Amino acid sequence: MNIIRRHLGWKLFLSYLIVIVVGVVSLALTAELQTPAAIDRHMAQMATMMGGSTGMMTDLTESFSRAVNEVLLVGASLAFVTAVLVSTFVTRRIVKPVQAMKAASQRIAAGRYDERVQVTGEDELSELGRSFNRMAHELARTEERRRQLIGDVAHELRTPLSSIKSVMEGLQDGVLPAEPQTFASVEQEVNRLQRLVQDLEELSRAEAGQIRLEKEWVDPAALLETAVSRLRPQFADKQVSLESRCPPTLPTIHVDPARMMQVLLNLLGNALQYTPSGGRVTVQCSVNSEHSSANGLPANSLPHTAPFLQISIKDSGIGLTADQLAHIFERFYRVDKSRSRAGGGSGIGLTISKHLVEAHHGRLTASSPGVKQGSTFTIDLPVSAPPAS
Ligand code: ADP
Repeated sequence: MNIIRRHLGWKLFLSYLIVIVVGVVSLALTAELQTPAAIDRHMAQMATMMGGSTGMMTDLTESFSRAVNEVLLVGASLAFVTAVLVSTFVTRRIVKPVQAMKAASQRIAAGRYDERVQVTGEDELSELGRSFNRMAHELARTEERRRQLIGDVAHELRTPLSSIKSVMEGLQDGVLPAEPQTFASVEQEVNRLQRLVQDLEELSRAEAGQIRLEKEWVDPAALLETAVSRLRPQFADKQVSLESRCPPTLPTIHVDPARMMQVLLNLLGNALQYTPSGGRVTVQCSVNSEHSSANGLPANSLPHTAPFLQISIKDSGIGLTADQLAHIFERFYRVDKSRSRAGGGSGIGLTISKHLVEAHHGRLTASSPGVKQGSTFTIDLPVSAPPAS
């Protein structure tokens, strides 16, 4: 009994067997109960027509009855053997892929994420096999991302920590003077670590979809103006021109102003950082009914349909190759690691910005004609009318 409870194959086989036995028994019972009466009736008709004796007819009836029983027995045995063979074949077809999936899932649980099952047909079991493979693929990707994240975080921590350590050692050995400049360099590294921790916290919230948005109706022109004026001094310092070509009358948007400000400052800050002196950064706004299709994304991949507000930040800076564009929103991705780190960047800013824009049901995309030809970062945000007060 235990073997049947634990094996699907046996359960299927048993169910077939029950069907066969029930079939054979009902056939035999029907033959046993119905055949004599039917034969009697037909024999009586024949006897009347042919004028035979009653004794001969009784013999004939019995012979017929035996013949029918014999044929039934042979037929039932044949049906039984055929059913056993067919059920064995079908049972194997069902159980084999299930067993393969069971074995593969055990290997995946043991950490072998490259495990896949072979899928051939089109039926539900094959569909299950394909879903299983998709799940295994996603698990492998998650594991890969987890490993990479740990590696990246360790790498990000190593540089500031070793720089703090060497300053401390220098101070202890008397090689470095205990003066404000030395302490300022330590403070800079500590600030970098603090920023990294804040970014990581924010990233983990964003990736878990746990960013709480405090949305309100906002005038995008005013929001842009605030962002632009906040960074204007840095642009002036680096001698990069900053121009805003946004009309003062834009439709209001329903967003979290602090979060949108964070996105704008990240994009404008990047534009400034990756544009050499003498360069130009332009902010443009428009209200469109079709979504931007930068980055090769389908234009209709936004959940909202028209109208939507498009804000583009275009710079004349170092630009990006097609390969770099494909990775630009990945966490810790930096085209030029030393240059970005020097500016305090950890390569998380754009990842967070993308999550923030998407949390507003919008989209953030990047495009560039190529290296040294500038880049454009575009925010698409759905526009809807504020509720009537
Ligand atoms: P970081 O803090 O390192 O700037 P981001 O996530 O904001 O991190 O940006 C990731 C990387 O994308 C940067 O390190 C840089 O290589 C590239 N990048 C971002 N903005 C631009 C831009 N406007 N022009 C060229 N490259 C850019």
